[in-house]
Amino acid sequence: MINELVWRQLKSQLDAKGVTLVAVSKTKPVADIQALYNLGQRDFGENYVQELVEKQAQLPNDIRWHFIGHLQSNKVKQIAPFVQMIHAVDSFKLLTEINKQAVKNGRTIDVLLQMHIADEETKFGMSVTEMFDFMDYYRAQKDDLKQVEIRGLMGMASFTNDESKVEQEFLQLYNRFLVMQRTDFIGKNTFDICSMGMSADYAIAIHCGSTMVRIGSALFGTR
Ligand SMILES: *Cc1c(COP(=O)(O)O)cnc(C)c1O
Repeated sequence: MINELVWRQLKSQLDAKGVTLVAVSKTKPVADIQALYNLGQRDFGENYVQELVEKQAQLPNDIRWHFIGHLQSNKVKQIAPFVQMIHAVDSFKLLTEINKQAVKNGRTIDVLLQMHIADEETKFGMSVTEMFDFMDYYRAQKDDLKQVEIRGLMGMASFTNDESKVEQEFLQLYNRFLVMQRTDFIGKNTFDICSMGMSADYAIAIHCGSTMVRIGSALFGTR
């Protein structure tokens, strides 16, 4: 079951602010995705490769699929033929593999670099130091990475009721995004996405500058 009213309110609120809504449909049936699609939703997020591949085959071709989970290099080839954006790139090895598979499929794949902003050890993503190392590798090998487009940053805040802490983490991510954008780290002006905010914290994320939110349970119900 989808929550149509929530979708309508969220969609108009986000459209007015120029924020992209990615509807996170992981574990939810194809019928729910189709129902939201019929209302006009086009960006959907999944975080398991097998599940995404199975769903994609059954749904309209103009859906923009976002892979938002942790991705192993050896699984990139399964989603490379159709995926729009991979949100959680946290190693240069993964970036290289995405480019390789994009070339094989004659496409360009958009990616976001995942930053570690939360306290929790369990959350994936790069530290600031790792990010600088990553960018050094990237700049040195940029000419061989033409079919992967680094579009911005992605991050997940700590799982806590402490809103000021969540806000602080989102601001930290957004500031890194701005610095990278202003200093033209990528060397192209295509660095324009800061993906942050989920059902519980999207309002804070938007307040902090988010340009893309990833919302699941508020739209599809609890998992
Ligand atoms: C599941 C998931 C979401 C959506 O979470 P909700 O709390 O259901 O909105 C967003 N981002 C990532 C990376 C996720 O895995």
